[in-house]
Amino acid sequence: MNIKKIFSLVLIFSFAFFICTCSKNDEAKKIYKAGTYTASALGGNETELSLSVSFSDSEITDIRIIEHSESPGISDIALERIPKEIIEYQSLGIDAVSGATLSSKAIIKAVGKAVVQAGGDLESLLSKKIEREAIEKTPVELESDVVVIGAGGAGLAATVSAHQNGASVIVVEKMPNIGGNTIICGASYNAVDPKRQKALGIEDSIEKHYSQTYEGGDKLGKPEMIQTLVENAYPSIEWLESLGMEFKDTVFTVLGGLWPRAHKPKLPLGTGFISTYMNYIKGKKDIQVFVETKALELIKEDGRVVGIIAEGPQNIFTIKAKKGVIIATGGFSANIEMRDKYNKIWPSLTEMKTTNHKGAKGDGLLMAENIGANLIGLEHIQLLPMGDPKTGSLLGNIEQNVENRIFVNTDGNRFVDEGARRDVMTMALLKQKDALMYIILDSHSYPNKETKNNFNESMTDLLKKGKAVEANTLEELAKKIGVDANNLKKAVADFNKAVDMGKDKFGRTLYQDKINKAPYYAGARKPTVHHTMGGIEINSKTEVLDKNGNIIPGLYAAGECTGGIHGANRLGGNALADITVFGRIAGKNATNNNF
Ligand code: FAD
Repeated sequence: MNIKKIFSLVLIFSFAFFICTCSKNDEAKKIYKAGTYTASALGGNETELSLSVSFSDSEITDIRIIEHSESPGISDIALERIPKEIIEYQSLGIDAVSGATLSSKAIIKAVGKAVVQAGGDLESLLSKKIEREAIEKTPVELESDVVVIGAGGAGLAATVSAHQNGASVIVVEKMPNIGGNTIICGASYNAVDPKRQKALGIEDSIEKHYSQTYEGGDKLGKPEMIQTLVENAYPSIEWLESLGMEFKDTVFTVLGGLWPRAHKPKLPLGTGFISTYMNYIKGKKDIQVFVETKALELIKEDGRVVGIIAEGPQNIFTIKAKKGVIIATGGFSANIEMRDKYNKIWPSLTEMKTTNHKGAKGDGLLMAENIGANLIGLEHIQLLPMGDPKTGSLLGNIEQNVENRIFVNTDGNRFVDEGARRDVMTMALLKQKDALMYIILDSHSYPNKETKNNFNESMTDLLKKGKAVEANTLEELAKKIGVDANNLKKAVADFNKAVDMGKDKFGRTLYQDKINKAPYYAGARKPTVHHTMGGIEINSKTEVLDKNGNIIPGLYAAGECTGGIHGANRLGGNALADITVFGRIAGKNATNNNF
């Protein structure tokens, strides 16, 4: 064989090898049928989240959310972060965004469905874990006049108020999103209102609000705190309005509120409060808000609180406060250990679900206690009879107002005054079979199916999600929910008589319309952990007190992390007044103290 022949054979061989490896590599790289596919999955609000996913032969190249009904302000980070990370890591094994788990999972699930359509290997994408480089956190020192822990309603009210009084403010929030329980709440805000209540012919007074709050809490709330709350509730609505927040003209009775003095913002849920504060904060150079930054401890020097230590994704912060530190970390309804430790009133709460956001763990109480603060009333944990039987959430609750609905047990019988205190109603429900009840109401509550409830859901939504059932007669309704039809008809007939008489055997006093206008609706509910009345002891200036009743200089607290206001039972609608009134006071006093 001459050299030329050998060379050409080598060439042919190499070429064949090249073609062979090349097509093999191409095969290996062809993971997907390139194109754009659409898919959907059930999101956080039990509604469909749909998206489109674009694939090249080898990669996920683009994810676009087409439609969703996720909660504004809460799911935003998941909607932005999850698609980005799926593309960056080419994996579905990424972590859900804390506080927006259901939205995160819905995105991952829907992208998974698109992967299957594109012929990809779903299993390997799901099991591909992300190796994130361990970050050595850099120490950073910061300083401001006032430091606020927690960017919920109380913390942001304090921030704005401190700034209005001339302070620079640093806010730390441990969750990826701001708003805490406030942004997901029903937003009913109690205040004696000279304008709206008068226009609606509702008689009310500061004294009545005071006595209902005091007596409704078994006289365990501190009188000076309650007086401050009820006197400042309406001026704080005016303050919110001065910041641009809008309230509806209606005033109504919220569950366990005992009186029609609940105000409703125009924006859904608690988004009106949070967006109002954030609109104020936006662009202010002397207010900094750090999310995903958890306060770990308070710094106390010579008896005075002078700052905090906090941990962010990349840093360990030492944040000094020239004037004061305000704890506004919310309650501990989502901390099962704390609930179990302090619960003395209810049967075991270990298995009970909660209405609260994941971050409601009582961090502030523990930090304050560590430096000598007094904690009070921790055994007073509020349950609501209104939880979703599966999730404990208040979403899917069909009620509109207290006056127009009744509760029946699984036999179809009423069992309690449905206008009573929350603890009374929940205790009565816990004694019913499976602690399960149905709210029964009619079209007086939903003049049309698009009328929204307190959680911004229409009857059309509720029926679609299976949270409500509808029937043209009470017999049919009873059959659909599996209760005795005669009992249900009698329960409704007796209630309708009570509407005429203004009283009934349960002691109910709140009535408006009879239940007699088809279609009728029913929705199932169970007890759920809702609010913690106990917490850090403060005085009416929001100064934190130690175990001997002395003020701890430099330390303030406001909102659900505090105790001593609501006693044994909080009236529905009083928390939003509380966090706004005392948040404002905390911001002002922390700024103006003379230390
Ligand atoms: P939050 O709003 O919970 O804010 C506390 C913030 O602190 C959170 O963002 C949390 O993540 C953060 N945080 C906690 N620990 C740390 C830490 N270590 N470092 C940094 N940040 C931290 N009340 C009413 O009056 N009317 C209603 O209609 C009503 N509806 C409700 C509906 C629901 C579903 C829920 C859950 C509650 C409702 N409530 C209602 C109660 C009311 O919403 C709360 O009591 C109130 O919003 C608490 O406000 P807050 O600012 O004290 O706490």
